[in-house]
Amino acid sequence: MSDNDVEILADTLRLETCPACGHHIAVPFLDQTLQPLATIAWPGSSNEARTMQRLPLDFVRCVECGHVYNAAFDYSKVPYTRKPNLMFNKGVIWSDSIKAIRKRILEYLPEKPVVVEIGHGDGSFLAGLASERPDGTYIGFDPHGASCAEIPCLRFCSTLFEAGRHIPEWSPDLIISRHVLEHLTNPLGFIQSLTFSSACIGLEPGLYIEVPCIDRAIETRRTVDFYYEHNSQFTTRSFRKMLERCGVETEMIGHSYDGEVIYAFVKLGCCESHVQTARSAFFFRESIRISENTIVRQLDELYHSSKTVAIWGGAGKSAAFINRYQADAKRFPLVVDSDSEKVGTFVPGMGQEIRFRDYLLEYPAQVIIIPPQWRAKDIMEEMRQNGIQAESVLIEHEGCLIDYLKADNPYK
Ligand SMILES: [Zn+2]
Repeated sequence: MSDNDVEILADTLRLETCPACGHHIAVPFLDQTLQPLATIAWPGSSNEARTMQRLPLDFVRCVECGHVYNAAFDYSKVPYTRKPNLMFNKGVIWSDSIKAIRKRILEYLPEKPVVVEIGHGDGSFLAGLASERPDGTYIGFDPHGASCAEIPCLRFCSTLFEAGRHIPEWSPDLIISRHVLEHLTNPLGFIQSLTFSSACIGLEPGLYIEVPCIDRAIETRRTVDFYYEHNSQFTTRSFRKMLERCGVETEMIGHSYDGEVIYAFVKLGCCESHVQTARSAFFFRESIRISENTIVRQLDELYHSSKTVAIWGGAGKSAAFINRYQADAKRFPLVVDSDSEKVGTFVPGMGQEIRFRDYLLEYPAQVIIIPPQWRAKDIMEEMRQNGIQAESVLIEHEGCLIDYLKADNPYK
């Protein structure tokens, strides 16, 4: 590669989000073009076929993991709701490949498994498993797939799989998803939602995923793989990288169908730290709900005490305080600021005019509230230097308004 080529390369940088690993730098992989839907449109006449809408193909490649994806993809342009995704899979080698996968899955399963398939399509793969191990329970989810099951232990739901709802409902031993991820806008998020939902209920189900692999397409400069419906194209590296980013334990990654397909068995639910963070966010929100009421009530009591109250600061954190705790302009008209630049403007959302702090020399307030706690020390010093006095100075701390000078707090 010459110096000139290197310059051209740097110039091709694209800020996109990789659906497999989440990295944000990509480079063009194919020149942009327009093509109609390739597998799902089923035009009924030659004229209909020729006049089909052309959709943008803008395939780029993630520099971190090598994933190839259509940066211009729009899921709503693919009419899965109206048209079935017919996939020819009756070839002999393909059938053998499916049998081999089924065998591997059966080895993986317990005696009476609960198996969920996301995107079951014609249902034949799940039905095959169900007939080989009929003591289990098999549930397929696919809004556009087969809806009628002829085996007692098998059922098909015509609904979209929702990890947060259906994993607790079924407690599956294994979740299967074959040839679905390459159609999704966010396959990384899809697997992350499975593993997080499992971890939340202390479950560690297996996951079997399978997608086309484009290693050979790239090596041999093949272009037919890159059409609208397959917006997200996995290489071995991008597939691995996606799994690394999911909080799963990878048990096996392999190729089938002569390297054209890549699959993995992983254990979901191995992300205890994510559950801890979620729990902490939950408790924060719960406690704020309580403290919000406390502070609203304290402000109301202040108003009814007939004391004059000033709020120090009218923008940023102070505006956030005024809005969150509904310190309206009628009950709390007096807002001052240290910054003369803000004087004469108004508190966003509530409308109090912001006055300069020296206003308090002429019209002293009995109570001063300082919403930005971390600046309280500075503001107290500013008040002392300028001779501004008040009976009490309040800050928000641990869910209520406290007296800055009298009560324990880390901001003194
Ligand atoms: Zn990537």
